[in-house]
Amino acid sequence: MASVEEVGLHDHLEWDTPLYRTAIAQFDQAIPYANVPVDIAERLRYPERAFIVSCPVRLDDGRRVVFPGYRVQHSSVLGPTKGGVRFDQEVTLGECAALAVWMTWKCALLRLPYGGAKGGVRCNPRAMSQGELERLTRRFTSELLPIIGPQVDIAAPDMATNAQTMAWMMDTYSMQRGFAVPEIVTGKPISIGGSVFRHEATGAGVVMVIARACERLEWKLAEQRCVVQGFGNVGGIAAQELVERGATVLAVSDVSGGVYDPAGLDIPTMSAFAKANGSLEGWATGQRISNEELLELECDILVLAAREDQITGENASRLRCRLIAEGANGPTSLAGDAILRERAIPILPDILTNAGGVTVSYFEWVQDLGRLFWNRDEIRAKLAEKLNDAFDRVWEIAGEREVTLRTAALVAGIRDVSEALTARGLYP
Ligand code: GLU
Repeated sequence: MASVEEVGLHDHLEWDTPLYRTAIAQFDQAIPYANVPVDIAERLRYPERAFIVSCPVRLDDGRRVVFPGYRVQHSSVLGPTKGGVRFDQEVTLGECAALAVWMTWKCALLRLPYGGAKGGVRCNPRAMSQGELERLTRRFTSELLPIIGPQVDIAAPDMATNAQTMAWMMDTYSMQRGFAVPEIVTGKPISIGGSVFRHEATGAGVVMVIARACERLEWKLAEQRCVVQGFGNVGGIAAQELVERGATVLAVSDVSGGVYDPAGLDIPTMSAFAKANGSLEGWATGQRISNEELLELECDILVLAAREDQITGENASRLRCRLIAEGANGPTSLAGDAILRERAIPILPDILTNAGGVTVSYFEWVQDLGRLFWNRDEIRAKLAEKLNDAFDRVWEIAGEREVTLRTAALVAGIRDVSEALTARGLYP
């Protein structure tokens, strides 16, 4: 009989890039603790479906440009696939695949009836007008029509996309169907079926997870000095929530660089400034520092809310924080992770820490399907309940199995997907 290697050739896969390898290496670290049959684990190493499109778009000056776009759906075992759409110059098939894999474990960890997906368009959104972004979004949505749907794959905002992007996606899809289909995307404006508190959910969720961790570590959140990398929808709101709970935010950064004040920053005023100006470019108070310097500041809690691959084998040994919270997806490389484990600096992992976004996305989808809407207090309370429940399971696994919080979170997510896949069996 031929060996498995002879019948199936699994190297040189199209999504095999450094970030995808990171996602799979993390999976492999968790597998020994997750009690997953070998053939089930093998299936979960690959996305179910990957879609590549090219989107021709007319620019404001009349020229036409073709943008590459992607959507990767990792697992539909537990339900429709779910995940963001990003506009960024680094978007590739491999990046979307890695992010889709993480979405699967994130949804399972939070016990949401979804699998993971991620998509995006490789473009420079900062150099594009609103009209160009609208035409790109509509064309990308049209290209995805064969593989999306409220019971198939549901998009949401991610890097450089927002409620307006989701409104264009919802409208494009609805025009094809001939009636309004709010449940095709989440993170929409409230006027077309969006949920209250979705906009704040990721950043607020980051701080709910930090607060739970502080309780367990017996630290007072109000006494912590925090540094926040990223000042967008995740970092900006996390910084505000930290300040509201009495913590001090010493430094923040965005595309324009970092701002530092050892006495603490005036976050509400800075948020208003960034909102009005598009970034912190031109903000005059405090000391200007580079992104690298910001990461290495002495502090209690370092919140990573910018992008992947920020803490690496190169800088992990120089960090001077006591706890890391991953608001972005994949901000710590494998080498960075190993050094921080060695240094006993705990990391609140991305699939738990930034799960507030997809959790309120789930609430939004349920409200859209039921045509019945909840208020802010109900949503905030339901979110806290879900995050605390996931946090407690992760904390318990980490203690019992003597593994990092990241491995524990992955074990919790992978175990549930594996059980479901085992129960469903192999088709045909
Ligand atoms: N893009 C967000 C994430 O990475 C949200 C996804 C969603 O709400 O579906 O979790």
